[in-house]
Amino acid sequence: MNDLQPLLDEIAEAVKPEFGKGKVADYIPALARVPADRFGMAVCGIDGREWRTGDALMPFSIQSISKVFTLLTALETIHPDELWQRVGREPSGTPFNSLMQLENEGGIPRNPFINAGALVVTDAIAAHSASPVPHLLNMVRRLSGNPGIVIDEEVARSEAEHGHRNAAIAHFLKAQGNLKSEVTRVLHLYFRQCAIAMSAMDLARAFLPLANEGVIPATGEQRFPPLRVKRVNSILLTCGLYDGVGNFAFRVGIPAKSGVGGGIVGVIPGKFSVCVWSPELDNLGNSHVGTAALELFTRKTGLSIF
Ligand code: GLN
Repeated sequence: MNDLQPLLDEIAEAVKPEFGKGKVADYIPALARVPADRFGMAVCGIDGREWRTGDALMPFSIQSISKVFTLLTALETIHPDELWQRVGREPSGTPFNSLMQLENEGGIPRNPFINAGALVVTDAIAAHSASPVPHLLNMVRRLSGNPGIVIDEEVARSEAEHGHRNAAIAHFLKAQGNLKSEVTRVLHLYFRQCAIAMSAMDLARAFLPLANEGVIPATGEQRFPPLRVKRVNSILLTCGLYDGVGNFAFRVGIPAKSGVGGGIVGVIPGKFSVCVWSPELDNLGNSHVGTAALELFTRKTGLSIF
């Protein structure tokens, strides 16, 4: 791989006209306080090289990106068959916080990356752990090599105060028998996992094993089995950006996960992980500038999974 620094700096410049076209999430009031014009990008190669530009070291709210870490945790906590009876693996084609499809389909969420599916995954972990959030923090700290990663308590509180849609989803799941713990416990855990703050560099590092058949390149540790990595990457490709996933595959062409904090992190298997952060979202809740940056990145490098 060439030195990517000139390309990252070029992308940071090229996306500037895109600012002002999206909107920072405000349904979680604490997120609306983040300056809209932030932009950071980080790339980690499986050969150990790293590049970054802009605000790549600034922590932001990872929000739905946490759903990847909880899925990985659930898959090493309970038998996969047990999990896949409670949540599907199909793209939803509906907004991440939709209730309609969940009711039509009897309380079995389409996939683990929409809110309903993530609540089921969190519930599955909660049944086997007295302290799921410290466990999760431990995982992301280790994967990213940053022991300083913490939860943004203000964001967690803010979402708890305004998370009525998620409460409705959780209650419906409970009514359908697809939530084992108490609704309040699952919501509490879910809001806290979403409020973990990480930088683009932290996230790119944390996703690197997904680009490397489960092996952490720096240590050689086989952190996840290759089959699990293949499967999680396939769900990222088909479900990682909700009802924007087809357009994202068309424009960017990599398995990735977005969050309403403005982060998008993805992998090109066998090559690298890449994370962008820019808080303005498109109308589906994915980073507008971040998508533009990733599109330029895969076009200019000629690398995608297709
Ligand atoms: N915490 C957010 C929510 O549940 C996460 C959504 C997202 O990032 N897409 O609404």
